[in-house]
Amino acid sequence: MVSLFNSKMEKMPRGKIHELQLKRLKKTVKLVYDNVPFYREKLKKSKVSVDDIKKLDDISKLPFTTKDDLRLNAPFGMMACSLDKCVELHASSGTTGVPVTVCYTPGDIEVWSEVMARCLVMAGLTKKDVFQNPIPYGTFTGAFGFHYGAQKVGALVIPTGMGQSERQVKLMEYYGTTFVSGVASYMLRLSQVAQEMGVDTRKLKVRNGLFGAEMFTKGLKKRIVDAWDMDVHDIYGLTEMCGPGVSTDCDLHDGLHIWEDHFFVECLDPKTMEPVGPEEEGELVLTTLSKEGMPILRYRTKDITKLYDTKVCDCGRTHVKHTPIKGRNDDMIIIRGTNIYPGQIESVVMKYPEVGNNWRMIISTKNDVDVLTIEVESKNQLSQIDSMNLEEKLRNDIKSVLVFKPIVSVLPPGTIPESGLKAKRVIDKRKK
Ligand SMILES: [Zn+2]
Repeated sequence: MVSLFNSKMEKMPRGKIHELQLKRLKKTVKLVYDNVPFYREKLKKSKVSVDDIKKLDDISKLPFTTKDDLRLNAPFGMMACSLDKCVELHASSGTTGVPVTVCYTPGDIEVWSEVMARCLVMAGLTKKDVFQNPIPYGTFTGAFGFHYGAQKVGALVIPTGMGQSERQVKLMEYYGTTFVSGVASYMLRLSQVAQEMGVDTRKLKVRNGLFGAEMFTKGLKKRIVDAWDMDVHDIYGLTEMCGPGVSTDCDLHDGLHIWEDHFFVECLDPKTMEPVGPEEEGELVLTTLSKEGMPILRYRTKDITKLYDTKVCDCGRTHVKHTPIKGRNDDMIIIRGTNIYPGQIESVVMKYPEVGNNWRMIISTKNDVDVLTIEVESKNQLSQIDSMNLEEKLRNDIKSVLVFKPIVSVLPPGTIPESGLKAKRVIDKRKK
């Protein structure tokens, strides 16, 4: 039997979802019109008022919001209520400039906990689980989202925070951790650390995990499943919506359900900003439907995905599914005129059992031509001949994806430096 955290909402008939969405959309438009000067100006300019929202398709009349809009109005210019109504603040990592700051009312925290609880139960969490949360507790949304959601489910949360990999493994052993959150590549890193410590990961009680915050290819998934003898689910979210908790894949592992009672979903052609056809690739554009602190209209996530056309999933949930994020528009790299997502390379690299868990791509220029070097660590120490053979196989296989042949360099295990929470896969040395 499939367990659901909130059966009534998760199985709500499509017609009812649409009714609820329209009601909440109108409320949100009124809220931002009355309280957020940025939206009031935009809506006035395009002569749109709340009364113009009569059906869901009327969302196309509303303005888009970009990350730059949020940054220009940071930290509190996009708030729809005064700060004294808010109880928590989070911010995006801000790797490329001003961070996006979001303040939450108690109601926002409640919704966030609810959607996270739904995601965690979808991934198999129960109140009997011992839930280890190896994510940094701080202004980053990750740790708190998982923490609130897991507590709402009633699991026992161990807030280990990020880092100290040996300690993480020891705590898993000591407390009998059954469920782990975080970032997929870190789970793989922990399996290496455990191996070095002489701990057999397959004998630990860990049986399930929910991972997000980076590209998550099938190859990477399979490696985690094999290393830990566990099931693995994929979670998607972003600070601008709530943090993690926007969508997760059910046990069918065929697409992630988005909670449409809280987020209105559009999939648009990033060039024309018109809707793409059913199951066609486009940019995910999201509108918050229940946010009180910082509601956002038509947020351009830059994430490329497809929405499924199927109405009801075999798991019983009625909320629309999207394919795993192909890559952020921002992650796309152009090398010799070809659009490349790091995930495409990872899919190839991770297929080879001789390849270890760490790899990266380095882009440089030689005589004004882009040069792509892909460094991969071998799983075990290889002879020179075996290294060269593996390099040749990888070169040919990657060429079929990229059109041109990259330089491939197989390195001994442990050569590529470890980098913080998210694996750093791309090093671009070209002059901008
Ligand atoms: Zn499903």
